Amino acid sequence: MNRRDLLRLVGATAAGAGLLALVPSFLRGKRGNGGDSQDKDGDTLQEEPEKVSQPERSSSSTGARIEARYYRKGKNDSVHCDLCFHRCHVSSGSAGFCRNRINVEGTLRNTVYNMPSAVAVEPTEKEPMHHFLPGTNMLCIGTASCNFRCRFCHNWHLSQRSIEQVRRRRTHTPGDLVRIAKSREVPAVSFTYNEPTVFYEYMYDVAVKAKKDGLRTIMHSNGGIESQPLQDLLAHIDAATIDLKAFSQEFYRNICEARLEPVLETLKAIKENGTWLEIVNLVLPGHNDEPAQIREMCEWIRTELGPDVPLHFSRFFPTYRMTSLSPTPVSTLERCRTIALEEGLHFVSIGNVPGHEANSSFCPGCKARIIHRVQYTVSEINLKDGACTSCGRQIPGIWK
Ligand code: SF4
Repeated sequence: MNRRDLLRLVGATAAGAGLLALVPSFLRGKRGNGGDSQDKDGDTLQEEPEKVSQPERSSSSTGARIEARYYRKGKNDSVHCDLCFHRCHVSSGSAGFCRNRINVEGTLRNTVYNMPSAVAVEPTEKEPMHHFLPGTNMLCIGTASCNFRCRFCHNWHLSQRSIEQVRRRRTHTPGDLVRIAKSREVPAVSFTYNEPTVFYEYMYDVAVKAKKDGLRTIMHSNGGIESQPLQDLLAHIDAATIDLKAFSQEFYRNICEARLEPVLETLKAIKENGTWLEIVNLVLPGHNDEPAQIREMCEWIRTELGPDVPLHFSRFFPTYRMTSLSPTPVSTLERCRTIALEEGLHFVSIGNVPGHEANSSFCPGCKARIIHRVQYTVSEINLKDGACTSCGRQIPGIWK
């Protein structure tokens, strides 16, 4: 870890509570599943819970812990997982595509329950999440692995490894995490860093416990979850940041080993449910930045989700299996933003470009700056009871 990274870590900690025990980072995990969040600088902090619970080890050498939800038993001890779009058929002794769900003698088990690989207090803005308690911090939680294989993943140290390959330091029950969040006086917990679908049972139980204890809940997801588990989860989730990685089937197939259609269905379901929704599009030069595709995506968002869903265009930096690709030119991000505004979207930001004017949020009515933001730091909020102080227009979001 270089000095710059260390200073950022210390800053994030101080901003969070000033109480976290800072220990050397064992991961280079960044915020946002699949690395689509705005900033890619933050090593995660592993902090000390007030009371560490030691879950029982399974007799299985894999360390599998609890029985998974959303699966069906098949012939010869095989199972069918119904949690995400992959719909894996898993034979006995094997794991699903996400590496985290394994078939132990005909029972599908979740291998990462109570086993976070990253826990840290970080700014809500960093999710990115701009219309949700701006200027606050939240307790961010991630485990290992993913159900996508994005070649550009900024969080590949977490997302493209199994739990056995990630150096884990602690075990935290849902109760431990809620106690930590309360002791740090953050208003929310966030499921992020890696795809939360692949630690669904853990996320669900933490969310239920957090809501019961008066905390808000956020998830940052690639959107590849199936309908029923999503609906069940949304009852306990206040806000979601979803990566819309491209508006192209080919991109999803060739770059992510995934599919676009389930993501679009997830976006619509979240919106219909009334859960607060924001979207991130990580712009990769030459891969998903074609103006016609950006326009089509924005038109779809406006038509299917409405113009008030914030859209974040985020800058790519070379990493993982796309190290030969150049960082996204700022002019490309600005062009994307112009297209989105032309298509009628109301809240369009540019991320991963610290100090850019479009880090901030603007009123779609009078164009006044309603939240002054430099990267993740909020210096001014010009909202009163959720309305623009300049023109009185109501701004959608969760403000208190
Ligand atoms: S959650 Fe994992 S095991 Fe289940 S369908 Fe998705 S990739 Fe397969």
